[in-house]
Amino acid sequence: MRYEDRSRRQSSAELQPDAMAAVSGEVVSCSLRRTRRRGFSLFEMLVRDEAGIFRVVFMNQPFLEDVFVAGQLVALFGKVEWRTPGGLQLVNPQYEVLSDDAEDGETSAEDGLHTGRIVPVYERVGSMGTKLLRRLVAQLLSELPAELEDVLPATIRARYRLPSRRTALLQAHFPPSETPLEEVNGFRSIAQTRLIFEELFLFQLGLGRRRQLRDADTKPHVITIDDRIRDSARAVLPFALTNSQKQALRAIVDDLRRPSPMNRLLQGDVGCGKTIVALLAALVAMENDLQVAFMAPTELLAEQHFLTIRRLLMSSRFTVASLTGGGRAAKRRSTIAAIESGVVDLVVGTHALVQETVRFKRLGLCVIDEQHRFGVLQRATLREKGHQPDVLVMTATPIPRTLALTAYGDLDVSTIRELPPGRRPIKTKLVPESRRDDVYSFVQRRLKEGRQAYVVYPLVEESERSDLKAATGMAETLASLMPGHEVGLVHGRMPADERDRIMRAFAAGSIHLLVATTVIEVGVDVPNANVMVIEHAERFGLAQLHQLRGRVGRGRHQSYCRLIYQRPLGETARARLKAVAATADGFEIAETDLQLRGPGEMLGTRQSGVPTLRVANLLRDHTLMDTARKEAMRVLQDGAMTEQLLRHLDDGWTVRFGFAEVG
Ligand code: ADP
Ligand code: MG
Repeated sequence: MRYEDRSRRQSSAELQPDAMAAVSGEVVSCSLRRTRRRGFSLFEMLVRDEAGIFRVVFMNQPFLEDVFVAGQLVALFGKVEWRTPGGLQLVNPQYEVLSDDAEDGETSAEDGLHTGRIVPVYERVGSMGTKLLRRLVAQLLSELPAELEDVLPATIRARYRLPSRRTALLQAHFPPSETPLEEVNGFRSIAQTRLIFEELFLFQLGLGRRRQLRDADTKPHVITIDDRIRDSARAVLPFALTNSQKQALRAIVDDLRRPSPMNRLLQGDVGCGKTIVALLAALVAMENDLQVAFMAPTELLAEQHFLTIRRLLMSSRFTVASLTGGGRAAKRRSTIAAIESGVVDLVVGTHALVQETVRFKRLGLCVIDEQHRFGVLQRATLREKGHQPDVLVMTATPIPRTLALTAYGDLDVSTIRELPPGRRPIKTKLVPESRRDDVYSFVQRRLKEGRQAYVVYPLVEESERSDLKAATGMAETLASLMPGHEVGLVHGRMPADERDRIMRAFAAGSIHLLVATTVIEVGVDVPNANVMVIEHAERFGLAQLHQLRGRVGRGRHQSYCRLIYQRPLGETARARLKAVAATADGFEIAETDLQLRGPGEMLGTRQSGVPTLRVANLLRDHTLMDTARKEAMRVLQDGAMTEQLLRHLDDGWTVRFGFAEVG
């Protein structure tokens, strides 16, 4: 967990007035004393070391009451003063509460293990405290065979001057005495680096190998591009692509033409224009006589994609259909039949697409939108409906650079960094609840100008009922505050068709103000809406706030976002809100999110592909990850895979790194 420097301690007998001292010992007693002067406090402590008892005082730090208790082992560093009363004492020293070693018994026989050096501090395991663990680890290390198997290839070890595995293990636990404490606590010592590198290298090697095996698969069909296809793509394009879009499209088309199936992630901020890129890829597949499945996470989004795509393909010879869970059963049956017979070239749908009854004649490309909304299984199931189809997954939740190599380590990644021209940055403001009325009058003015607005309410599950009431009440209040404007309400508890009816009315402009719970989070496109008000913004996650805000800023009008928050604000909530207000860049936001939440929580379950690492830390060690990846690739490309490495990978790589088979 960390290390403590117990090598340079003085004895309390050596304390000199006006000198700095580093001492340690056991807290004998401590107490907080309020003095007569108002607002002034003294925290006093008696500490015992081998030479005797000495006094420590802290001025105006009453919280220390919660830090120190009698019996604790503490290290102190600070100035010694002669004062009356009390005599010689340590005043306002820096302090460290040392691990609670006492409970594990006597030390005398183990001098040098727990003191007089940099000592490791371990996380408690059950009833085993750090001292017992330290003793066990020391014992085990002393039994290490002289020759320890080392999986890191010697060439790599030499290139980075990494110690042997044996040396690394010994020194990672018990650092040599000259090692700077910051270095070991930052996990940057050469011994630690070697262990971290080894873990990351094996991880990348396994990923790379998996990918190599997959690249050996071949598609049963060949996709080609010619001028006729280029012309047909040009014909459907309603605007010029941004350079970013062109680049992404080029990478995708290159994949399509390759003999092995594509596995590509297309990421790009909300509104950057991923749909058209996917559609052009779809066009290439269709021109090659293949069917395309386009899967979206909600009915609404599927419908929106369907309408967009049908409009764009109106003048083409391709047949577009939509398949969702709703609607008339007869119609669904006939759509399913048309997919199976090959009459339908492109089908847009929800997870209804992965039902057993849906069979394709020649599925060649699966496009999966907002992929984080789908489980791994659904993706895999869709893929299995074709013979080695190409797969393109899209997400507007950018993966921080730091995680891209790991979370999607076995996907190729294309990133759209530009927004389409003419977009104006959304103006975002934080507003305390007490000033909500200002926000309402602001909204009213925008409505009067002919724009539309969203007011979003969080719906936290535990208090769903009361929140729903709040959202409903809010809709009523707003309706009365804004006479002459239509106010609509959508929430997750509504029947889907009712919700869709209201959303459609909002999209058509007959509803001006939409009060919503977060059901509108993903993908809706209403360019005339230019205000997003988020109530209880402190309750939303960072990515969610960014997604919600992304609902506006899609048209030619200046757009606004108002984040209404309630006090008191916790520290992370404050950091989140500040981050959203400060930047519109989804990637920057994703990095901040990662810092605030950590990789595991950010990407969810094991399925998401975040490896479970033992010594490495994705945030701390991302440069090492880059190096490890480079070296792993080199081994794979040079055919330098050894028997030993293969054995290591086969011995539970997936188990070790917590990977479920990703679709
Ligand atoms: P997202 O990447 O969030 O899915 P969309 O594909 O829905 O974004 O695109 C957002 C909006 O931007 C759509 O209205 C789309 O028509 C428009 N758009 C996309 N690319 C361009 C472009 N190159 N020029 C102008 N408008 C574009
Ligand atoms: Mg989209």
